[in-house]
Amino acid sequence: MNADIPYKIYLDEKELPKAWYNLRADMINKPAPLLNPETRQPSTVEELSQVFCKELAAQELDETNPYIEIPEPIRNFYKMYRPAPLIRAYFLEKALNTPAHIYYKFEGNNTSGSHKLNSAIAQAYYAKQEGLKGVSTETGAGQWGTALSMASAFFGINCRVFMVKCSYEQKPHRREVMNTYGAYVTPSPSMDTEIGRKILEEHPGTSGSLGCAISEAVEFALNNPGYKYALGSVLNQVLLHQSIIGLETMTALDKYNIKPDVIIGCAGGGSNLGGLISPFVGRKLKGELDCRFVAVEPASCPSLTRGKYVYDYCDTGRVCPLQKMYTLGSGFIPSSSHSGGLRYHGMSSLLSQLYDDKIMEAISVTQSEVFGAAVTFARTEGTLPAPESSHAIYAAMQEAIRCREEGKHENIVFGLTGTGYFDMLAYGKFNAGQMNDYVPTDAEIEASLQQL
Ligand SMILES: *Cc1c(COP(=O)(O)O)cnc(C)c1O
Repeated sequence: MNADIPYKIYLDEKELPKAWYNLRADMINKPAPLLNPETRQPSTVEELSQVFCKELAAQELDETNPYIEIPEPIRNFYKMYRPAPLIRAYFLEKALNTPAHIYYKFEGNNTSGSHKLNSAIAQAYYAKQEGLKGVSTETGAGQWGTALSMASAFFGINCRVFMVKCSYEQKPHRREVMNTYGAYVTPSPSMDTEIGRKILEEHPGTSGSLGCAISEAVEFALNNPGYKYALGSVLNQVLLHQSIIGLETMTALDKYNIKPDVIIGCAGGGSNLGGLISPFVGRKLKGELDCRFVAVEPASCPSLTRGKYVYDYCDTGRVCPLQKMYTLGSGFIPSSSHSGGLRYHGMSSLLSQLYDDKIMEAISVTQSEVFGAAVTFARTEGTLPAPESSHAIYAAMQEAIRCREEGKHENIVFGLTGTGYFDMLAYGKFNAGQMNDYVPTDAEIEASLQQL
């Protein structure tokens, strides 16, 4: 082991960021504005406040303040599990026999098992500040629902979770963790909302989708006074909260004067990747850093690599604002995959703009490739990674192999967003050689895009 750089670069509690970084303030081409689905005019804070907490609605539309102070109670909560370590993957490097240095930012050090807690605690805090009774939300793989349950319990508010049906069935323990934190969880589509009943009628036996669960959660918030809706990804406010990942990573790398050559993250709705790369993209835009940024998405739900950059609905029920993004169409229901957290039809508008401007690249990978990388990582670095995170591992390994072939030293940084303890059914399938790699055909994607 090289003594110059420790296996883990820890930050001191005092180095925990005091403000989130809002990349939009420094972007030349800003993401296109959210549109009101009825008037087709840019959404206002007042309109967004019907669904979201007022302070969060303001953050959603803020394109001018590069730094937004993190309120003290949120910082105090962060101290329970942050700063998160940046780890040098010495053992993986050795296994790959690469001259590259690989670093990963580990966000799985909390009970929710992922980075989602970074935004959940902020959203629960603002709900409490506004005097609300509770929040409603959707969850795909279950990490976001768990995170929001934890955050709601901490601030003493209710949490109503619509959990995508296939996850609800695949992950009963996840569901029970949420119940333990006091949340009320139902499978989606459910009979509890109008949109849920409609989708069940049209697609009986559907395994559900994030887009559908979002619609149910929004409808619930609109029909129940004292509730607002919370979303775990995609939105600007979520990328803003997740910037804590990138800010800490930057501080850690700066300590050892390490310049990243490529930064990689998995992309579902784009929040962990957006949060990880934001401060570095800011530097790049100012000409202070030369670095590639790579989004890795599942081949089963390839919004960046095979979608279209257009205005689309964020949800199947078409009640949320329209957002310009790379999308497969809000009616797209991806095949049941083991990376539930990446099964979203669209992509953050900020990342979509960076991709369109060629500041960020994107690739898509199949489930088998991803689990192969996950197993190698677990056996070399010890941590059992979440399937979602393993998309980034796969891409980081490919970059490291490229460096070996080119005989080049590069610094590769990736986000290890979470742990995979609740994904053993999926690991079991892979270990038994029974994993299938469903990739949608062009005709299927075209049919969904036709409905835009
Ligand atoms: C939700 C989730 C993701 C994907 O969500 P993003 O908003 O794209 O970051 C990735 N990894 C884990 C572990 C997750 O829980």
